[in-house]
Amino acid sequence: MDILSTWAKEAVDNRQFLDILYKHMDRLFYLELARRSMNGEQLDNAACAGILSDTSLEILTLLDAAYQVRKHYFGKEVRVHILNNAQNGHCREDCHYCAQASSSAAQIEEYGIKPDEEILQEARQAYAKGAACYCMVFAGRGASQSRIEHLKRLLAGIKSEFPDKEICVSTGFVSDEGAVELKKAGLDRLNHNLNTSEAHYPNICTTHTFTDRLNTLLAAKAAGLKVCSGMIVGMGENNADIIEVALRLRALKAESIPVNLLVPIEGNVLGAPGSALTPDFILRVLCLFRFLNPASEIRVAAGREIHLRSMEVMALYPANSLFLQGYLNAKGASNARTLQMIKDAGFSIKSEVDLDELLERMPQQDGITDSPKVLLKTLKELRPAI
Ligand code: SF4
Repeated sequence: MDILSTWAKEAVDNRQFLDILYKHMDRLFYLELARRSMNGEQLDNAACAGILSDTSLEILTLLDAAYQVRKHYFGKEVRVHILNNAQNGHCREDCHYCAQASSSAAQIEEYGIKPDEEILQEARQAYAKGAACYCMVFAGRGASQSRIEHLKRLLAGIKSEFPDKEICVSTGFVSDEGAVELKKAGLDRLNHNLNTSEAHYPNICTTHTFTDRLNTLLAAKAAGLKVCSGMIVGMGENNADIIEVALRLRALKAESIPVNLLVPIEGNVLGAPGSALTPDFILRVLCLFRFLNPASEIRVAAGREIHLRSMEVMALYPANSLFLQGYLNAKGASNARTLQMIKDAGFSIKSEVDLDELLERMPQQDGITDSPKVLLKTLKELRPAI
């Protein structure tokens, strides 16, 4: 109502007020989206569907509305995440999007679990590169007790050097007891993506179910861990599936939501390019996740380079987080290009490391390509600490 009062004061008579109101009706709709989101109201299905598919909704105005919500909770700060693919390949699960899956013929560099010192050294490198969160990823169905013990040792080592830095772990299914142990050991976040809707899940994986995934997230929540969980867009789902995932994560109060865009790695079951994803649609998806999860960290995650292309920077308006240094097996943009994009758009990074200083010492070519094609990481890129 504040804005209406302002216009009413500006108008010299009722007719002029109506003219002004008419002119701004369109704008009011978008402001209303932002207001309802920040008030914690859940948008109904028709509004969610409209955000994704109603082309009469202007993308720039939609982005601006989502940005109002993002700015309210996170200002102009970008949280940088760096992944450590701590163990590559040899997974018996068959997730169709994953180059480490038993069903994949992708030519990745396989290796067993990295030595602890290497994982610790990569943590030092990640925080020195401005990462707000260091994410250790372990392939496989789930965490055995010996994996939990190993993670506890790693957490103790990293937290003793970086007590104020965030650590995230992705290690498949985690039991109720395992989640409690990890919480006690100092873990901040547990990552376990929902990936897609319950109905679409059998189309992307046959070795486990959506419910299996949900149970790990519930265990993490019950243990008091923050939850990092998101989806992969572009796996043949429909808009209703996307809306369902965004609502599930809202119900879970997921603190961190990576919105990945399918990276079609050759050899994967879902390895063929040609997805219908467009930059416009991806930006709408990010806006939807922001409106439905206003206070969550929304990450424009894997695949931003190849799918958003020249529109990549626009993702920072609904999203407040991204990955630096590529993904698990796929290369991303160079670190210098990503950090320069953040700076050029007038954003800052959440780090005690100054962005300008970081850019000055960041090699322009740091081994990660800006190619629009999907390229796999080399061993040196997968294991930068050796
Ligand atoms: S996503 Fe995880 S569980 Fe699925 S195949 Fe890849 S490594 Fe295995």
